[in-house]
Amino acid sequence: MNLSTKVAIVTGSSRGIGRAIALKLAEVGATVVVNDIGKAEPVESVAEEIRAMNRQSLAVLADVSSPSDVTKLVETTISRYGKVDILVNNAGITRDQLIMRMSDQEWDEVLNVDLKSVFLCTRAALRTMVKQRWGRIISIASVVGIVGNPGQANYASAKAGIIGFTRTIAKEVASRGITVNAIAPGFIDTDMTRRLREEWKQQLKKQIPLGYFGSPRDVAEAVAFLASEEARYITGQVLNVDGGMATS
Ligand code: NAP
Repeated sequence: MNLSTKVAIVTGSSRGIGRAIALKLAEVGATVVVNDIGKAEPVESVAEEIRAMNRQSLAVLADVSSPSDVTKLVETTISRYGKVDILVNNAGITRDQLIMRMSDQEWDEVLNVDLKSVFLCTRAALRTMVKQRWGRIISIASVVGIVGNPGQANYASAKAGIIGFTRTIAKEVASRGITVNAIAPGFIDTDMTRRLREEWKQQLKKQIPLGYFGSPRDVAEAVAFLASEEARYITGQVLNVDGGMATS
């Protein structure tokens, strides 16, 4: 696997799964634009880690649910590196609540950050990928978008939406040498899942055939493969990285 001629954008890559993806793509040679919405320091330190690996990297603060910020993210990448070959739609949030108590705001925030962002970033990146007739779009969905999860109607809807979006765009752009795939992680050990109560985590582990939460690196390895030339004949797919959860 060699991505040394490729330029990648990884959204939400200051920590967790996004950070692991950014580091893995750099490890196999890619130039990586890292992004988050918060303070500059965490994402800048990921860019520093990548530069220390002798790869190029740039940190761009942008809210991926904002059309103008997404334009800035993609245009900054193109003006610095001339192209975008790989887009990893990773940024995501949760606002858990049972449906009867879920506010309009909790619904809208999750749909905007977890689904609308995928539309905005994909549309912006495709403009350059279509011209160069090569591209990889990889979006991080969730096993929750496949099997459902009480308290996550907003999140499950956004993640299921990513799957429909992926299958559709894969068909729209296949003739241009661009593949579009999604990864559906199960429970991965990050800040997002560290918030869960210990008792609930033990219950969840019983639903995972492999018996433990995955690591961000497990997801990153799958992303690097889908981004590679070796995966050129795979498009419109959802790859579960979930310890066997969606089969149980
Ligand atoms: P995380 O640790 O909470 O990190 C989320 C990242 O997204 C952070 O870098 C955050 O930036 C960034 N972000 C949030 N809102 C953003 C916005 N509007 N614009 C740009 N960046 C934004 O999450 P994670 O667990 O690594 O999850 C990464 C992805 O995997 C998400 O899409 C999540 O739904 C999915 N996933 C996670 C699991 C799991 O078990 N962890 C399972 C299935 C799917 P700040 O640091 O600035 O907030």
